[in-house]
Amino acid sequence: MRLFIAFLFLCLALAACKKKSQAGASAAQDAAQASSTPPPTPTPEPVDLNSEVIVLCYHRFEDKPKDSLAIKPSDFEAQMQTLKDNGVTVIPMADFLAWRRGEKGIPAKSAIVSIDDGYISGYSVGWPILKKFGYPFTMFIYTDYVKGGPKSGGQSISWEQLAEMRDAGVDIQSHTVSHSSLNARKGKNDEQYSAWLKNEIAGSKELLEQKLGIQIKAIAYPYGLHNDAVRETVKQAGYEAAFTVYGQRIGHSAEATMIGRYAIESSKPKVFEEAANFKGSVEGGGAGAMPAAVTMVTQPMDGETVSDPSPEIKANLATLGDVDPKSVTMRISGVGLVPATYDPETKLVSYRITQKLYTGQVTVIVGATVNGRKTEARWSFNVGSKEAKEANQAKEAS
Ligand SMILES: [Zn+2]
Repeated sequence: MRLFIAFLFLCLALAACKKKSQAGASAAQDAAQASSTPPPTPTPEPVDLNSEVIVLCYHRFEDKPKDSLAIKPSDFEAQMQTLKDNGVTVIPMADFLAWRRGEKGIPAKSAIVSIDDGYISGYSVGWPILKKFGYPFTMFIYTDYVKGGPKSGGQSISWEQLAEMRDAGVDIQSHTVSHSSLNARKGKNDEQYSAWLKNEIAGSKELLEQKLGIQIKAIAYPYGLHNDAVRETVKQAGYEAAFTVYGQRIGHSAEATMIGRYAIESSKPKVFEEAANFKGSVEGGGAGAMPAAVTMVTQPMDGETVSDPSPEIKANLATLGDVDPKSVTMRISGVGLVPATYDPETKLVSYRITQKLYTGQVTVIVGATVNGRKTEARWSFNVGSKEAKEANQAKEAS
């Protein structure tokens, strides 16, 4: 049971943070007593929010690259060695997401290796090389391309091969259904466009989850393209991270729906060099970003499992500082933005869910302008009741 939530404060002095944490602790305890929840326990270790991450994006591996999206296996192997030589630690997607949630530290220079689309060479060529280095990696799959699918071909990976990778610990995430440019409406009216987006974004997630029995938390936009509607749909679908192909180092407070990746192409060796040297721009990090872990009493608590599929959700913002009452927002995974109420006197933001939540993990994101700066806090709980399961089955059946 962790009641420590990481907040992303930009340019907040450490001394000020300490003061607020202490002031917040007593407020948090009061609130804890009021709601008869146990007092908060501290996180075991501080999470370094100043780490930086590069995300590498590959497609195919070929001895004689037919186009720039293909990389020679020997070049790929040399690049993986360069990461090691440069003191860069390749981390799994799960660690990156846990770090973003403030739950886990990652090395100062970290990298994620990702392979897009679902070409067989990721399985037959890329994987053995990555195994040699003991590197974790992520496969971003668009489901229409998997063997048997409407866009599959001779180079498609199969569901069986994906299952084999899953069993060996390879991370699998979404790259939509059809690999179309998500920002292109192509004559669709508002309703048609949003239904189509929902299928590409939420539909691919559901299909991968059902076929492979996994939880999909990340998506890579085809060609890196997105717009407001795309990003909103991504949030509603419950993704924790969405990736573009705008290469830059990623800091802790990088916007979740626009995480840049370096597209590694055989015709542009400089891109990999820049990434591996941790040069160039940083998104959502750098000088001025200051970690601040403060206590926040939430209901349900972080990590708690509740049986009520329509729980009341509450958070005490007393520890945050000077909250602009009009700026407080609440988002719930699978639901989106909800009309939560905020009481400036008690500093409580609350919302009673009006629909049944599906079983599984629910993430709540509270946003607010604090001391004039945009701040975001999140926590997760689990819904595990019979009613919720029935609601879930009813949804699947319909
Ligand atoms: Zn792609």
